[in-house]
Order: sequence, then structure tokens, then C-alpha cells
Amino acid sequence: MPKVSTCSSGKKVFLSMNLAEEALLSAHVQFNFGQGKGPVAVYQCDDCGQFHLTSRGTISVRLKDFLASSDFKRQRQAAEWADKLKHKY
Ligand SMILES: [Zn+2]
Repeated sequence: MPKVSTCSSGKKVFLSMNLAEEALLSAHVQFNFGQGKGPVAVYQCDDCGQFHLTSRGTISVRLKDFLASSDFKRQRQAAEWADKLKHKY
């Protein structure tokens, strides 16, 4: 069982596919990447055996569903408002 939490790729390491997907989804809430930008999927690394986000390849089904959901729109809106308030002061 790998206990390293770093990877020679220098990418952020996630201990499970599920954790990586959660991070993938919330990244899209926080940063409005737009079409074809930002991380799109999660993969298991050959080097460290853990999981990273990638901006290449096919968009993950879970992300695709999430972006199309009303959940995403609501969370995105909340994030935008938080952003506006931050910049105001
Ligand atoms: Zn790795």
C-alpha cells in the first residue's frame, strides 16, 4: 500500500478516485473554467498509484452530469456571489 502523498509529476495527489472526483467537481464550482478548459477527468497514476486530475482526454461522466445539473448552477451562483462580495471590500 503506497503511503507517499507526493508524486514525481508534481501534481496534487488524491488518495481515492472518489476524493479526486469531488475535487474535480468543486474546482468547476470555484473557477468558472468554461467549455473545454480546466480539469476534465480523474486518472490513476502509473508512478504513484494514486489519483490526479487531468485537463486532457474525455470529460468524466460524473463531471458532465454535474455541470448539467441544477445543483451545479446553484453552487456556481453561490460561488459567484461570494466572489463579488470579496472584491467589493
Ligand atoms: Zn502520480
